[in-house]
Amino acid sequence: MTDIIQLLPDHVANQIAAGEVVQRPASVVKELLENAIDAGATEIKLIIKDAGKTLVQVIDNGKGMSVTDARLSFERHATSKIRTAEDLFQLHTKGFRGEALASIAAIAHVDLKTKRPEDELGTAIEIEGSNVKSQEVSVTPTGTSVAVKNLFFNIPARRNFLKSDTVELRHITDEFHRVALAHPNIAFVFYHNGGELFHLPKENYRQRVVHIFGSKTNEKLVPVEEETEVLKISGFVGKPEYSKKTRSEQFFFVNQRFIKSPYLNHAIAAAFEGLLKSGYHASYFLNLTVDPKTIDINIHPTKTEIKFDDEHTLYAILRSAVKHSLGQFNIAPVLDFEHQSSLNTPYSYKDKAGKAPTIEVDRSFNPFTDDSDTSKSSTSGYSHVKKSPAKHWESLYVGMESQGGNTDDDFSAVTFESNSKTASFFDGTSTATNKTTFQLHQKYIVSTLKSGMLIIDQNRAHQRVLYENFLKHVTIKEATSQQLLFPLQLHFTPNESKIIKDLKTDLEYTGFVFSELSDKAITITGVPVEVPESEVSSIFGQLISDVENDVPDANFSAADLLAKSMAKSLAIKNGKTLNHTEQEHLVNSLFACKEPNMSPTNKPTFITMSIDDIEKKFM
Ligand code: ADP
Ligand code: MG
Repeated sequence: MTDIIQLLPDHVANQIAAGEVVQRPASVVKELLENAIDAGATEIKLIIKDAGKTLVQVIDNGKGMSVTDARLSFERHATSKIRTAEDLFQLHTKGFRGEALASIAAIAHVDLKTKRPEDELGTAIEIEGSNVKSQEVSVTPTGTSVAVKNLFFNIPARRNFLKSDTVELRHITDEFHRVALAHPNIAFVFYHNGGELFHLPKENYRQRVVHIFGSKTNEKLVPVEEETEVLKISGFVGKPEYSKKTRSEQFFFVNQRFIKSPYLNHAIAAAFEGLLKSGYHASYFLNLTVDPKTIDINIHPTKTEIKFDDEHTLYAILRSAVKHSLGQFNIAPVLDFEHQSSLNTPYSYKDKAGKAPTIEVDRSFNPFTDDSDTSKSSTSGYSHVKKSPAKHWESLYVGMESQGGNTDDDFSAVTFESNSKTASFFDGTSTATNKTTFQLHQKYIVSTLKSGMLIIDQNRAHQRVLYENFLKHVTIKEATSQQLLFPLQLHFTPNESKIIKDLKTDLEYTGFVFSELSDKAITITGVPVEVPESEVSSIFGQLISDVENDVPDANFSAADLLAKSMAKSLAIKNGKTLNHTEQEHLVNSLFACKEPNMSPTNKPTFITMSIDDIEKKFM
């Protein structure tokens, strides 16, 4: 037998490595912008055509390269930025792996033009798929221009995998934002298909944020400044009233490098505790400066995670700095009612007596029938729902059908009606001819009753539905999971991991399947059917934050907390448009709950207004 192992040719190795570094045009943008910054540029031009599929070009006025360096820059592991392994621990540059240009050149057509200030003439190099096509002396301004054309020309699978121009351009814009925010002292211009998208002069940080996110941003910024021995913080948080439903305005930069850190994000969320509506996220643009020795960024070329030596201290400093700023700017916390709720599991879902109760949900139960005691006054409890929760909410519906036509005619035309309607809805064949619900402000579902109207808070209502559902799973220990195609690994601090470990059994009863639970990471191979994979990491983030914020007392019920937390994470948010079927489904599910009137955190899920109440308002 002859030997069979061979070294891969360079261009093949490069192409493989390229798969890691370059996932989409935005990755090229990031690498080229970072190289320009590392070269000390003060002006950087980004030129994009067709969302980067045709061209990504970055032109800088940095220090340029010599003839030899220009050629060497395309070799793998060729870098001017570190020389020894020790240098890794005191990085002052963005790049250090020496992989980017080699990778990009392996999978695209690259034109490089570069000249150092001290040279009269520069160098031009053309490379296609790792093959140098030409190298010439060139008349070119000081600095470097790298044009990357026809990305993935030799990997059709990758090219086909690219998303629409809109999506790819959004990724590019995100990268551009991150780099431009980290470097307000550098001027940037950004063109797409000949049009100018951004023109950012050298400016201060506030101006840069406002330039990127629009002039309205100015009034919402609260400065955060703090300097301690281990950490310097500067930047802004957004005033709570400007919080957003997305996390699109959350930026951490550590030593001018954009990072994502759920842990530090949590520190900000904790500082905003009680100031934000549920489902809303604080905006922040924060620059953290730490000793490069205390961080480890050498994880993965495309990852934005970073490891800190002492996360806990950073967390504490960050939280208090942000809190302090919010306080100084007179943004006093309001009372947080979320935390008044009892930690006890309500009603008998929880196994208080030591035996597992069996839980059933009566699917056929229809709150809109009138077969309950019609002798109760139809308006009883209308204005008292808040004060006497859980008490015969069914009575709200009593008498709906028994009332006569006369003055109520118009109103009764749109009341909830007939079993068959609700039933048909459940089996998905609803024809929805009579609309009995509508959505108000993408937040409330308004439903008409024979004797008045019902206004349901969609988020709280859905929390209630999910909560009872999860609680049921946990307590009767049956849940269905869906297996993930690829195991999902989440990273945590030891403290956070401990929280997850403590809840492991309960989590498994909801449908999570773990294959690894270490001090630093958990690996998930299955999730509850109700949980989309994209939500998993935010569910765990929320869960950890809930456990940390709820001081567990003797009555602490892990199952209850878990169910509440997951319900909070997954519930339909305010601002979400629901179609008619979804509205009805939510209303029906809510009233199939054991305790429909209150959210899991004891806030009313709906209010009612009787005709009498309405009539009084017209007096
Ligand atoms: P890294 O940035 O990790 O060093 P790259 O492959 O991105 O690796 O670049 C390789 C080398 O090419 C860099 O170390 C630098 O010396 C040189 N280089 C790349 N881009 C530029 C630029 N815009 N200006 C000057 N030198 C550059
Ligand atoms: Mg680089």
